[in-house]
Amino acid sequence: MSDSIIKIEDLHKSYITGKNSLHVLKGINIDIKHGEMVSIMGSSGSGKSTLLNILGILDNYDEGAYFLNDIHIGKMSEKKAAQFRNKYIGFIFQSFNLISFKTALENVALPLYYQNISRKKRNAIALEYLDRMGLKEWSDHLPSELSGGQKQRVAIARALISKPKIILADEPTGALDTQTSYEVMDILHEVNRTGITVIIVTHETDIAQLTQRIIRLKDGIIESNDYVTNETVESTTILQ
Ligand code: ADP
Ligand code: MG
Repeated sequence: MSDSIIKIEDLHKSYITGKNSLHVLKGINIDIKHGEMVSIMGSSGSGKSTLLNILGILDNYDEGAYFLNDIHIGKMSEKKAAQFRNKYIGFIFQSFNLISFKTALENVALPLYYQNISRKKRNAIALEYLDRMGLKEWSDHLPSELSGGQKQRVAIARALISKPKIILADEPTGALDTQTSYEVMDILHEVNRTGITVIIVTHETDIAQLTQRIIRLKDGIIESNDYVTNETVESTTILQ
């Protein structure tokens, strides 16, 4: 086994719409080690989400190779892709993607529903994860009754409940104010400290600076790939 959890080699991706083809990723190479915390930066339209969707096996690529935990991820059935996602990956999105008519607890418990775990057990485990996020008292609330930061913490709890090896976060702080953004980054640091690899797409430099390494995309290729050298901000804030 190699020490890479994600390895992509000369990856290409185009979108075809009608007669037009848009070459978005033009030969990307990335190697991410187990337990790293990495950010992917680039201006709007540079292909960050496209790349993250491929890493999350939500989308196919055209050329090159993708190895997840040393397993080659090529074209596969949706069922197989879902199995890989469930085993390895937790997703966090800018817009939280919570189900609006389900409570915080039900949202967090949902991934376990697909694992044939009894409702009682699901809810007990979900409550533990909400508790870890400082949200135990909010378990019966609907997303509409929660602040942006609270919603994102519910989404993080939901991402963690199936014990992923990787968290893929697409602009996780994009809808949050500065203070709340840092609080969410604190939580992602804690997640990373438990050994989970964390990959964060962001266009905010101060957020990227809080990761160990910044990969910059430009015009479909990797423009730079640098380790962050300045001291990262350590904080133990867990807000209520
Ligand atoms: P970013 O996340 O960096 O803003 P995206 O990966 O979302 O960039 O998009 C990269 C380019 O691909 C953009 O020009 C976007 O319009 C285009 N694109 C993204 N998704 C699709 C799609 N499903 N079909 C066609 N074009 C797309
Ligand atoms: Mg995007």
